[in-house]
Amino acid sequence: MSDTILVLNAGSSSIKFQLFGLEPSGRLARQLKGQVEGVGGQNPRLVVADASDRPVFQEACPPARTADLEAAQELLGSWLVGHLGAVPVAVGHRVVHGGPDFAMPMLVDDALIERLAKFAPLAPLHQPNNLAPIRSIRARRPDLPQVACFDTAFHRGHPEIADRFAIPDSLHQEGVRRYGFHGLSYEYVASRLPEMAPAMAAGRVVALHLGSGCSACALVDGRSVDSTMGFTALDGLPMGTRPGQLDPGVVLYLMQKGQDADAIQHLLYHDCGLKGLSGISNDVRELLTSGQPGAGLALDYFAYRTGQAIAALGASMGGIDGIVFTAGIGENSAPMREKIATRCAWLGLVLDPERNATHGPRITGPASRIPAFVIPTDEEQMIARHTLATLQATKGQPG
Ligand code: ADP
Repeated sequence: MSDTILVLNAGSSSIKFQLFGLEPSGRLARQLKGQVEGVGGQNPRLVVADASDRPVFQEACPPARTADLEAAQELLGSWLVGHLGAVPVAVGHRVVHGGPDFAMPMLVDDALIERLAKFAPLAPLHQPNNLAPIRSIRARRPDLPQVACFDTAFHRGHPEIADRFAIPDSLHQEGVRRYGFHGLSYEYVASRLPEMAPAMAAGRVVALHLGSGCSACALVDGRSVDSTMGFTALDGLPMGTRPGQLDPGVVLYLMQKGQDADAIQHLLYHDCGLKGLSGISNDVRELLTSGQPGAGLALDYFAYRTGQAIAALGASMGGIDGIVFTAGIGENSAPMREKIATRCAWLGLVLDPERNATHGPRITGPASRIPAFVIPTDEEQMIARHTLATLQATKGQPG
């Protein structure tokens, strides 16, 4: 059996995993993907599919064995070892926050875990969850190499001006600054672009990661130079349940009305965005078919703000040579891509309706002044590549 790399992405109530086989050619081939869902709830399940998304395993889990992420991680680990008869050569983790310094993935040791734990207040809903399986694997298998891959790292080459807030320097030094997120997604997109559109890849590109979380990234020659996401994953574009850019005076107003930090945090992460604006749903599919006025307003707002962000990132780069759509909405929703493109008509962007309806990859034709593409993202593939490269750099070739 070939060596494998396990990729883990731990959220608040699920652990998603993918297993990649290391082929003799050096290629990483996805073998399995799945998740333990409903962690901490009454109906937890382990669901596993093969590389073609065919279900290979589904089972209800005893709630006592998935009471928290650590327990769920242990259950998943036992299942993998039982089914594969082998442990992976390394585990790669998605870690949302790498702070101001980490511009590349890091091999995990105790000191790194402590450093990353200090960023928890900057990503309260993600960082503790991301670190839980790292800690539990390290406690059980300290010899198993683990690599932390950060959503912020790809943005660390930004010019200083892009990452500053107009606040006193002492706060900046304390870490109150723009970090940018969805970096693993943008790095994957940037790695695919040269083979799909070489001229555009070498130029100025706005990449749009439009999923549950949404952001836009300015790429020059494949490197991130600016992003709409800031200090936390709340800033920038409107999202499923987060508002995106918001006057900080709104937060002051809520505080003065007596709401505490937990209540405001809940509002900003769970009740705003498409869900708050429509009063119906955070899911674009539901809003597109709803017919209620709130749904139309939410979708129009989403396209309006995304159009504004594209223009702003164009200003950061001094022009735009192409646009890329990715993630759940960006990859699957032809009507939303059309709505956003309409907001960019001033740029000379004109989608080809047939190419857009079939999701590209190229969704513009000769009528468009700049090209636009749909590139399905693959953050787990990116994490697997980083994990392998980090392992090779620190230990020589595995296997
Ligand atoms: P995440 O990985 O952050 O959970 P995804 O990138 O999978 O998010 O995006 C999830 C979102 O994508 C859903 O909330 C839904 O609004 C949207 N989405 C998925 N498929 C479609 C589709 N066919 N049409 C419109 N929106 C879609």
